[in-house]
Amino acid sequence: MTTLIYTHDACLEHKPGAGHPESPERLKAVLRALRTPEFDGAEWREAPMGTREQVLMIHTEDFVTDVEDASPHRGTMPLDGGDTVMSPGSLEAVMRCVGAACAGVDAVMDKEAHNVFCATRPCGHHAEPNKAMGFCIYNQAAIAGAYAYDVHKLERVAVVDFDVHHGNGTQAAFYDRPELFYASSHQSHFYPGTGSEAETGVSHNIVNVPLPRGCDSALFREQIAAKMLPAIRAFNPELLIISAGFDAHHLDPLAGLNLQDDDFDWVTRELLKIADETCEGRVVSILEGGYSLEGLASATAIHVKALMDH
Ligand SMILES: [Zn+2]
Repeated sequence: MTTLIYTHDACLEHKPGAGHPESPERLKAVLRALRTPEFDGAEWREAPMGTREQVLMIHTEDFVTDVEDASPHRGTMPLDGGDTVMSPGSLEAVMRCVGAACAGVDAVMDKEAHNVFCATRPCGHHAEPNKAMGFCIYNQAAIAGAYAYDVHKLERVAVVDFDVHHGNGTQAAFYDRPELFYASSHQSHFYPGTGSEAETGVSHNIVNVPLPRGCDSALFREQIAAKMLPAIRAFNPELLIISAGFDAHHLDPLAGLNLQDDDFDWVTRELLKIADETCEGRVVSILEGGYSLEGLASATAIHVKALMDH
C-alpha cells in the first residue's frame, strides 16, 4: 500500500488578488517540492469534484446557496470583509478540495492506500457551518470527518490541526457531536481569537493547546506530548484526519511561532503512531495554511515523506 497525493490544476485558479497571502504560488511551491524523485513512491491522483451533498454534511443550505450565488464571472467578490474572496475559479477550487478530502477517506477506508495527502487550496479550517472566513470558504477537513461518519458509518473520527491558527470552523462544526473529535495546537491570542483550553465540546471532544508567541521546538513537543497525543489516544479514533498547516514554521511571515522542519516530521510520526495503534494507520492529511513559500515547501515535503516512510 502506498501514499496517495490528490491535487488538481483548478486549485491554482482560486485567485484572491494581488498581494493576498493565500496565493496560487503556495500550491505551486508545494507541488514543486513534491514532484521530485524522492516522492516517486507516491501515487498521484486528480482530485474529483466534491458534491453539494458532501458540502451539506457540514455547511448550511443557505450558506452554500450564498457561496454559489456569490461566485463571480469576472473580478473578485468578497465573502467576509476582504480576507476571504471568490474569483471566477474559486467555486471549482473549493469543490476539488472537498472532493479530494472525501476521495481520500474512501481510499483509506477501501484499503486502496495506506494514507493520503491532499495538495489542495484554499484552506478550510476557519470556515464555519454558515460562514466563510480567514481565507477559507468550505471546510474540507470537517466535511471529510462528517463524510466518514455518514457514509462509512464510523463511530469515532478525529481531526488534528497543527496549523498556527485555531480552526474555529472545525471546532464549531464538531462542538456538539461527540463522535467527532477536534484537537488543535495554535498560537494563543492570535487570529481568530478562539481556541482556549476551556472550550472542550459537549463531551471533551474538543482539545485546544494554545502556545505562546515565540514557542520553540522543545516547548511545542512538550505541550503536544503532554496535552494533545494522550487525548487523541483516549478518543481512540477509527480514522485520523490531519489539518496540516505549516504556518507555525519559523519562516512564516504571518505568525510568531518558531518551529523547525524537524518538528513537522516529529508531529507527523507521532500522529502516525497513534493511527497505527487505533485505526490500522488510516490517515488523510489535508493542506491548510503556510505563507512562507520556502517554509511551506520544505515542511510539506517532510510531512509527506513521513507519511510515505510509514
Ligand atoms: Zn493558518
